[in-house]
Amino acid sequence: MTDKAFASQADVEEKNVSFDKLSDRAYAYTAEGDPNTGIVIGDEAVMVIDTQATPVMAQDVIRRIRSVTDEPIEYVMLTHYHAVRVLGASGYRPRHIIASRDTYDLIVERGEADMKSEIERFPRLFRAVESVPGLTWPTLVFDKRLTLWLGKLRVEIMQLGRGHTKGDTVVWLPDDRVLFSGDLVEFGATPYTGDAYLTDWPVTLDALEALNPAKLVPGRGAALQTPDDVKQGLEGTRAFVTAMFDAVKRGVEEGRDLRTIYHETYAELKPKFGHWVIFDHCLPFDVTRAYDEATSFRDPRVWTAQRDKEMWQTLEG
Ligand SMILES: [Zn+2]
Repeated sequence: MTDKAFASQADVEEKNVSFDKLSDRAYAYTAEGDPNTGIVIGDEAVMVIDTQATPVMAQDVIRRIRSVTDEPIEYVMLTHYHAVRVLGASGYRPRHIIASRDTYDLIVERGEADMKSEIERFPRLFRAVESVPGLTWPTLVFDKRLTLWLGKLRVEIMQLGRGHTKGDTVVWLPDDRVLFSGDLVEFGATPYTGDAYLTDWPVTLDALEALNPAKLVPGRGAALQTPDDVKQGLEGTRAFVTAMFDAVKRGVEEGRDLRTIYHETYAELKPKFGHWVIFDHCLPFDVTRAYDEATSFRDPRVWTAQRDKEMWQTLEG
């Protein structure tokens, strides 16, 4: 056996949910570093941004939405393909499920493998997993940018660059200056980079910053309610991604093997970022992808439940 329990299998403590208002039309469902859900309330319809991991878990989001509006939930928007964000979609019975073409392509290519892998990595996050009817298939697929009017409310759905995945999509409310970033930005939570484009990620963060958001709902962590908090979220994510990738590239240049690079990177990052949730879970996946990108794999390789465990044994065993 390994010293550390695989991924987040030892994380079983339920988190406290917050339902925070960012503007009259924007809310955030957050849970102390567990995956967030964003809510946009238009004039006649509601959009949910990322779904929670199962339809049963989605019911708690719906209950909170019903405390502020009776409008129908017509749209589910997927910021990217990860199972923990998309498999609750059926719980909302939406008219449309929106995703970028790159996200759609990733679901086709690796959705099934990702579902099995994620459920084994983090069982707590898939409460009532038997209620998941299968993969979530988008019904409305766009290229790069989609503008949606929910009555008078303009909603900009944009792919501003690759980072956490190839398909990353943000939702921007220009009138309220509220941004829903998905996992491109985390706050007090470790960025997962196992499927990332690490060279591109900081450039994409620049594009998010250029929108000059007043408020931001990150993929994990508390809703950022002031420009200062937004800046902290963007800078913290950038600092982690950059420091991690730089450490791995240095190890590659100096000819060290993956296991050695992992332990050196862990030691370097732990003092600065070790207090962020899921640090120990993410870092082996993060360093493995960084090593791939720094050596021979332009695109992230597919994680399977089997590959997850082999990697963990190699780095932590
Ligand atoms: Zn993700």
